[in-house]
Amino acid sequence: ATPVAIMVGTGKGAKLGILFKSAEALENLHNTDVVLLDKTGTITSGEFNVREVISKKYSEEEFLKIAASMERGSEHPLAKSIVKYAQDKGIELEEAKNFTALAGLGVIAEVNGKSYLTGNLKLMTDEEFDTSEYEEYIDEFSEKAYTSIYFADEDSVIGIISLSDTLKENSQEAIEELKSLGIKVAMVTGDNKKTAETLGRQLGLDEIYSEVLPAQKEQIVREHIEKGQKVCFVGDGINDAPSLARADIGVAIGAGTDIAIESADVVLIKSSLLDLINAIKLSNATIKNIK
Ligand code: ADP
Ligand code: MG
Repeated sequence: ATPVAIMVGTGKGAKLGILFKSAEALENLHNTDVVLLDKTGTITSGEFNVREVISKKYSEEEFLKIAASMERGSEHPLAKSIVKYAQDKGIELEEAKNFTALAGLGVIAEVNGKSYLTGNLKLMTDEEFDTSEYEEYIDEFSEKAYTSIYFADEDSVIGIISLSDTLKENSQEAIEELKSLGIKVAMVTGDNKKTAETLGRQLGLDEIYSEVLPAQKEQIVREHIEKGQKVCFVGDGINDAPSLARADIGVAIGAGTDIAIESADVVLIKSSLLDLINAIKLSNATIKNIK
């Protein structure tokens, strides 16, 4: 496109709250074959609500005290809502020691001199914990697309907490529009398989990748590129940064983390996936104008 066409396109984008960081992004976005969407914070709001607290070992209050104390050091949205939930119930939290975040998996921390582990099913399986006692609950909650996390002490699983997230208002419509433009739409998430599949089915997604670590997200982007597809990745988190950088076009959600925004070629200031459609249309118009 000519410099003037690029300037016009970039200016129109800015007015709509779509920030193109390069001429290339504006020129290439309309060639997209597949859009890979992060789930939490991208398709959904990422604002969790605690729905179920189940422990077969402790009272709800004792269990929540351990859970929230260990999550206090975590930046993860799941952690923040657990801490808030416990505090709202008037539970006093302990100082956690030796806190370690395991990206895409969970957290390790010591509370009252005992070591605990929290995270997804993959983490529990990797650490060889038996989760069967909680399986029936997890299955039931996954059907509601809740995200469930497990808590374990040094010996066994002590309980689970299930949280709901909400779809952003325009996500469904945006996904349908992408598909009507002939673009494949996939979801890539660190969340549990069943939860991801329930949501993915509701949304009519073409492909669903779940329980993936940040490096595996990037690997999925690479595999699509190697198949000759033009890949657009949309995400908001630290764990999306490698994928945003790797994709042909990286699109960051405006409300996302700084590192996601820095790694992206396009930023959707209003954090709505419908603006991805607008961005693609703008790219199309920019190219057409110069022919
Ligand atoms: P997403 O790709 O959905 O944004 P993440 O990669 O951030 O998710 O996390 C993947 C999974 O790891 C979460 O769904 C959760 O099960 C687990 N996890 C991550 N951080 C925590 C934490 N602080 N406490 C418990 N579980 C966690
Ligand atoms: Mg996210």
